Amino acid sequence: MKRTLLIVMTLFGLFGFKSAARAVTVEKVAPRFWWAGMKNPELQIMLYGDKIASSDVTLSSKDVAIKEIVRQDNPNYLLLYADLSEAAPQQFDIILKQGKKSAVVPYELKARTRNGADIQGFTSSDVLYLIMPDRFANGNPENDVAEGMLEGKVDRNDLFARHGGDLQGVSDHLDYISDLGATAIWLNPIQENDMESGSYHGYAITDYYQIDRRFGTNEDFRNLVEKAHKSGLKVVMDMIFNHCGSENHLFKDKPSKDWFNFKSEYVQTSFKTASVMDIHASDYEKKIAVDGWFTQVMPDFNQRNRHVARYLIQSSVWWIEYAGINGIRQDTHPYADYDFMSEWCREVLDEYPNFNIVGETWLNSNVLVSYWQKDSRLAAPKNSNLPTVMDFPLTDLMSKAFDEETTDWGGGLYRLYDYQTQDLVYANPMNLLVFLDNHDTSRFARTEELAQNLTRYKQAMTFLLTTRGIPQIYYGTEILMDGDKADGDGCLRKDFPGGWQGDETDCFKPEGRTALQNEAYDFTKKLLQWRKNNEAIGKGALKHFSIASGTYVYQRAYNGKSVVVIMNGTDKEQELDLKPYREVLPEASAADFLSGRIVSIGEKLKLGKRETLVLNF
Ligand code: CA
Repeated sequence: MKRTLLIVMTLFGLFGFKSAARAVTVEKVAPRFWWAGMKNPELQIMLYGDKIASSDVTLSSKDVAIKEIVRQDNPNYLLLYADLSEAAPQQFDIILKQGKKSAVVPYELKARTRNGADIQGFTSSDVLYLIMPDRFANGNPENDVAEGMLEGKVDRNDLFARHGGDLQGVSDHLDYISDLGATAIWLNPIQENDMESGSYHGYAITDYYQIDRRFGTNEDFRNLVEKAHKSGLKVVMDMIFNHCGSENHLFKDKPSKDWFNFKSEYVQTSFKTASVMDIHASDYEKKIAVDGWFTQVMPDFNQRNRHVARYLIQSSVWWIEYAGINGIRQDTHPYADYDFMSEWCREVLDEYPNFNIVGETWLNSNVLVSYWQKDSRLAAPKNSNLPTVMDFPLTDLMSKAFDEETTDWGGGLYRLYDYQTQDLVYANPMNLLVFLDNHDTSRFARTEELAQNLTRYKQAMTFLLTTRGIPQIYYGTEILMDGDKADGDGCLRKDFPGGWQGDETDCFKPEGRTALQNEAYDFTKKLLQWRKNNEAIGKGALKHFSIASGTYVYQRAYNGKSVVVIMNGTDKEQELDLKPYREVLPEASAADFLSGRIVSIGEKLKLGKRETLVLNF
């Protein structure tokens, strides 16, 4: 039996309580509460219940005004638009009457406990640690299977099944993450996914206001955010506005057919979202890309329907205000309606001016990615209002750059230099999320063999944590977990060893890691801890030099502090002529942060094969 949330079912009148059959039943109220004093004074309250639409609606409040009552094609919905511009924090009743039947829905406008401007978003001073909660750690085996939910088992041998990880598991290992030196966690979606299969990844939401019970409760999440903040970690929540899960009541018993694209009939998206920006694209191509469904079980919201738009926008504001999160990662950003997404970002940033949102802009060139960033000149006069975009093209280049020999005109590190010479295309290159891998790409170590190559790992991690942008590390990369997307997505999302009671190895502890894993972990920790308070890296402009002697040299500088990275991209020793770099180098010598040795700055600099220097002065 599917769990339903019975908010209230009160019958009153001349004869007191009667049988439930005669009451107006309210199964869901969304959102279940709100706050007085928000900048946007409008509130949509969705009431869902059997033939609820024919009810007359009144409010017991003196200062909450009904602006509009909307009835949809489906009689099981009532949309109430309230004007809160004069409303104080309070409890009031929404009273529904159908002849002699009635219901009273208690509603609360809470007092705000946060000032919108006090919520600090993640910035280029931060490093995000991405966690797939089902696969990180199982802190509470009691919640592995939740009664009444469609996917009723865990099976750690099945990479497509749930494994039992949860919020308690994340909470138990916040110290591991802060010791490592990350300053934020991004969790793959934790909202309810009551789907028959594949629910572990979280991208088919069935209730936008509810944490999946197998991860914990809403309160557990709020407590996790609070605990993370005390540990110096910001929290980024994953949201999906393009589509929901087909078991969502909004789809199963849809308010009206135009809540979903193609009138709620399944049409597959082409995944070719470049057509959105392509000046040559056909109308057909554009429509299929944006309005087509992600999969048959992920129906595509029609955000051009103003009620859909309001529902989604409010759900995000609700989580920020309720839990105090620091950022949102928006899934499949270009697949949704451009104008809606733009309005959503605008409203969130209006309410929380220091917040940050990163959109999943999985496109294969900087031109296409840059189009989605706030203030992009390519998108003008339109503006996405999306502060941060994902640098997928750089991820692709980084997957090759550290395996190839670098020459002055191509290959290896030349790719990274060449790509970054084109950063003028970005309205804000510092607000690019940069990453070696995530839950959808091959792991940086595609194979066990590549995972053994620590020189490759160290160069890549050094580059990731010292170039422009906001770095993100995928859980397990620091302990050399490998996985190739060609073997299926499950291979990219293996359990973190030690996250489950009885695991043979515990990589959360040094004694559980191999010597090689400890070397990778320690190296990563050293860089991350150093990066934390390093303003040259966190805020400084990037100045770089074209490749010479197979070596990439770049500087980050801020407020009189400098970091200069010198990276030999070849398997040969190099003798670098230092003349071209005088403007970024100190007079005589500088300490290499990685080795601790003093490097004297003369005419020439000898570099070992694949040697990397991080000069800090
Ligand atoms: Ca569990």
